Amino acid sequence: MYIGSRHNAADHLITAIRHGFAYAVVDCPLIIADGLKGNDYQEVSIDGGHFKSVRIARGITDADAMVVLTHVKGHALAGFGGAIKNLAMGCAPPVGKRDQHQGMQAEVNESLCEGCGYCETQCPFSAIHVEDKAVIDRSICYGCSACLQVCPRHAIYFNWERDVPRFLERMAEYSLGAVQGFKRKILYISFLTDITPDCDCVTWSDSPIVPDIGFLASADPVAIDTAALDIINQERGLTGSSLQCHHEPGEDKFTGVWGYVDGSYILEYAEKIGLGTRSYTLVEI
Ligand code: SF4
Ligand code: SF4
Repeated sequence: MYIGSRHNAADHLITAIRHGFAYAVVDCPLIIADGLKGNDYQEVSIDGGHFKSVRIARGITDADAMVVLTHVKGHALAGFGGAIKNLAMGCAPPVGKRDQHQGMQAEVNESLCEGCGYCETQCPFSAIHVEDKAVIDRSICYGCSACLQVCPRHAIYFNWERDVPRFLERMAEYSLGAVQGFKRKILYISFLTDITPDCDCVTWSDSPIVPDIGFLASADPVAIDTAALDIINQERGLTGSSLQCHHEPGEDKFTGVWGYVDGSYILEYAEKIGLGTRSYTLVEI
């Protein structure tokens, strides 16, 4: 699904070790849950509006319990990435990630495109061809947004009103599939530190948009994401970051970066399908 160093289990392992997640550091084995080439998964039945079954990595479905460690940060398509998104994408094999992106299609604003070709080098599906201008083959575009994130001219866009709610709903349904079978044997820990505007999957790291806050723990993925958003929004936004507006405490920080995405919609939909509740009580320790 991704270009760079996450093609297969060996690449993932090397990437993890380079980032400090080695056996000697974490004192536990590192297992890539969807197998050597990402095709070891199980169909899990759910009763969703988009899916009646989702594809979950077998290392997840075979596990007895799960601890979901999440770095909360912004995301170009989802608005923000929290525990729900981590479950959805992190527990899905490549075909499951594509299921979630399915239907999203990147488009090129030709009046802005200057034909630099950078997007073509970043597309994991070779869906872009550039001569004078970028042209996207819609039959093989999976809407991963890699091109959108690298275009220096902001010439690539999505149909946000149509595509984003559908993408968020699909992610929530995949999360529901990922937690099936665990009953309550899941702990969520979310880190509210280095809250960058972009997802960790991009090849750069930008300045945080708010100061470091700490971490949250919960047994409910919807509650912990709701609390994370509320707490982040109470912060004063950092100047000099890519936060364009909404610097005041109480204002929505992630729409201050990604103005076209209301990522909080995933909380509403996740609650509706029974993934968890938006109600929470904050206990400070
Ligand atoms: S990166 Fe942007 S400007 Fe460059 S070719 Fe692609 S769409 Fe055009
Ligand atoms: S969104 Fe862009 S980078 Fe991703 S598959 Fe489509 S054309 Fe390629």
